[in-house]
Amino acid sequence: MTTHGEAERWHYLLGRFPKGRYIAVSFCFENDAGILPSNSKFPSSVSTSTGRPLPERPSPKLCRGGDSEPPLTIAHLLPDLLNLYGDRGNVTVLRMRCAWRSIPVSVFECRRGDEIELPGVDVLFIGGGPDEKQRVAHERLMAMGGQIRGFVEEGGALLAICGGFQMLGRSWVLDGKPVEGVGVFDAETRRATNARKRLVGDFALESPLSEAPVVGFENHAGRTFLAEGTQPFGRIISRCGHGNDERSRADGAIHRNAIGTYAHGPLLSKNPEIADFLIAAGLERRAERTGFPASTLARIDDAEELAARAFMLGRMRLAR
Ligand code: GLN
Repeated sequence: MTTHGEAERWHYLLGRFPKGRYIAVSFCFENDAGILPSNSKFPSSVSTSTGRPLPERPSPKLCRGGDSEPPLTIAHLLPDLLNLYGDRGNVTVLRMRCAWRSIPVSVFECRRGDEIELPGVDVLFIGGGPDEKQRVAHERLMAMGGQIRGFVEEGGALLAICGGFQMLGRSWVLDGKPVEGVGVFDAETRRATNARKRLVGDFALESPLSEAPVVGFENHAGRTFLAEGTQPFGRIISRCGHGNDERSRADGAIHRNAIGTYAHGPLLSKNPEIADFLIAAGLERRAERTGFPASTLARIDDAEELAARAFMLGRMRLAR
């Protein structure tokens, strides 16, 4: 049995291993390690699988901003239902990148039976899940639909992966039939009409939110179609990979500061620009909520993250 500290450390490192290995580890977390408590602490030192310490980062303090600085509040919605392929690692990355900058953070896990007040939240995260878990999650998300739409329209930062992205569209498919979604994104998810059942594998994107290519891993049966005028999260630039469907070469959607994508992975461990986009948008929201000014994000040495991305790009035969 993995301890919470170990599980969290491994989640942070997931993006650094070849795909086969991190998928296996992610599954093992869902089944064995269970759900990390929202107040669990990071280990004070983090080392790689080879035992070598990670490079020094600026201000490696944990959640210790100025006394008067209110925490950036991150809510992880339904981690007990929606958490595939290391999706939870995205929340860990957001926490770590704030901690390295001495930005205080609090993370709430809002599980199936929990209530949450989104007016107090700055960054919202929703992972992906298998169909049977999506069924239960759908009910909860629809019950919170007005709050979630309001949060996004007010400029709150949101990241939704795969099944989470599908359910935030206008409609998606449950038990083979179209059902209404939360409606954050003007997008419809339908069933595949061809023989190819699932879209599985790595992909690289060109995204307006990152100067460098964004890399991720997809595994889904649903095909998502964006309404005209809806901006995709990115365009597929790798030979492999599909994103929303087989034809459009688009992945995900962007609406205000909300991102939907099919990229599991976890996405943010290999794409620090996207993590920082969410943190910066979250800090703007915190400023509006609390009056505490949002400052420019301090630079972090992203050598490890960029090496992980370069590895993936190399595997897809794309220039690094
Ligand atoms: N169950 C959904 C599908 O297969 C989403 C899967 C996922 O989140 N990876 O389309």
